[in-house]
Amino acid sequence: MSAEATKPAVEPIPPGQWLGLLGGGQLGRMFAMAAASMGYRVFVIDPDPHSPAAAVCDEHLQAPYEDDAALDALAERCRAVTIEFENVPASALRKLADRLPVRPAADAVAVAQDRIAEKRYMVANGIEVGPHKIVDRVDDLLRAPDMLFPGILKTARLGYDAKGQAVVTTRDEAVAAWTKMGRVPCVLEKRLELQREVSCIVCRGADGQAVTFPLIENEHRHGILAVSIAPARVSPQVAAKAAEIARKLAATLDYVGVLCVEMFVVAEDRVLVNEIAPRPHNSGHLTIDACAASQFEQQARALAGMPLASTAQLVPAVMLNVLGDIWFRGGDRVEPPWHEVLGVSGAKLHLYGKREPRMGRKMGHVTCLGASVADALERAVAVAAVLGIEPPK
Ligand code: ADP
Ligand code: MG
Repeated sequence: MSAEATKPAVEPIPPGQWLGLLGGGQLGRMFAMAAASMGYRVFVIDPDPHSPAAAVCDEHLQAPYEDDAALDALAERCRAVTIEFENVPASALRKLADRLPVRPAADAVAVAQDRIAEKRYMVANGIEVGPHKIVDRVDDLLRAPDMLFPGILKTARLGYDAKGQAVVTTRDEAVAAWTKMGRVPCVLEKRLELQREVSCIVCRGADGQAVTFPLIENEHRHGILAVSIAPARVSPQVAAKAAEIARKLAATLDYVGVLCVEMFVVAEDRVLVNEIAPRPHNSGHLTIDACAASQFEQQARALAGMPLASTAQLVPAVMLNVLGDIWFRGGDRVEPPWHEVLGVSGAKLHLYGKREPRMGRKMGHVTCLGASVADALERAVAVAAVLGIEPPK
């Protein structure tokens, strides 16, 4: 092999150097832990003094994301920068992009920031989505096809964990919900009969090489992810179709980093894209314990221009999300019985170091490993019983 052939397409950033991070939530925390274990130093900007990532980063600058001085400090110190949530202002990403690699780039993040842009992008690129109508004016609702009802009205921007969404049975309800939402741009989607919800996590390097993790199956409760199972209990054809969609999206977006594609499996094994997240994803947390490399390690590798790792799953896994609700079962705040959770064989506890549990707040997760999905599920049922949460199906 010639020296040319072994030369990386992009100059890699060696361990010991600084990597920048915008956003200090749990996704940032787990990224920082993965980067630190490879010897990188991580510099995070987050306005919250007690952000989960701050506790494990080498440096935390407490500032708003648009703060020029903070962005300057990050650009001076770091060799590349990534994000941990999609609502980082695109202007901040564009400013940083003049000075250092921003992965993923602002243009790709912008598609995920706005449901209207996202839907248009999918349609323009021949990627199948469910029936929907873009809503800018009341006329759009009045003229929406009947088949979209019952539907879900979703605000175009700033929605997560089903915030900014309303189930609407009739056209009148849709108009009322849209008025209540402040007449902001929305998407009206037909409410689909879902066979399964799945997510495919793809990681693409700056050299265009991409790897996908095994397909993950997801159960949401009240619009919030509750359970993830991998490998997903779907046919090989559905798994292959989902991976192909994720790869295609990463390539057309010229994406660098970790991208999660949330999909619906509907009748006749059709796979429709629901939405994309330009970052590691809650459903991929089980990759930490179940795969040869986690989604966070892949994010660090892609950011640093290093070769991507194997995504091979070494052991079946079921993840249970731990929400703040379980601290308040009897009314008063009581710490959950972690001792008993850790006593379940194959259970791995991950807590994010948040000081205040609140209803609906993501406090941590438990990944249960097993010899088979059925075995991991059995252990997850035991953990759910200990924590007093609804068992996975
Ligand atoms: P969020 O940004 O809150 O994750 P999603 O659009 O992914 O918003 O919706 C949250 C959950 O609501 C989905 O994971 C799915 O369970 C359900 N959902 C959303 N859209 C539809 C739809 N068109 N049909 C059926 N269920 C849906
Ligand atoms: Mg979602």
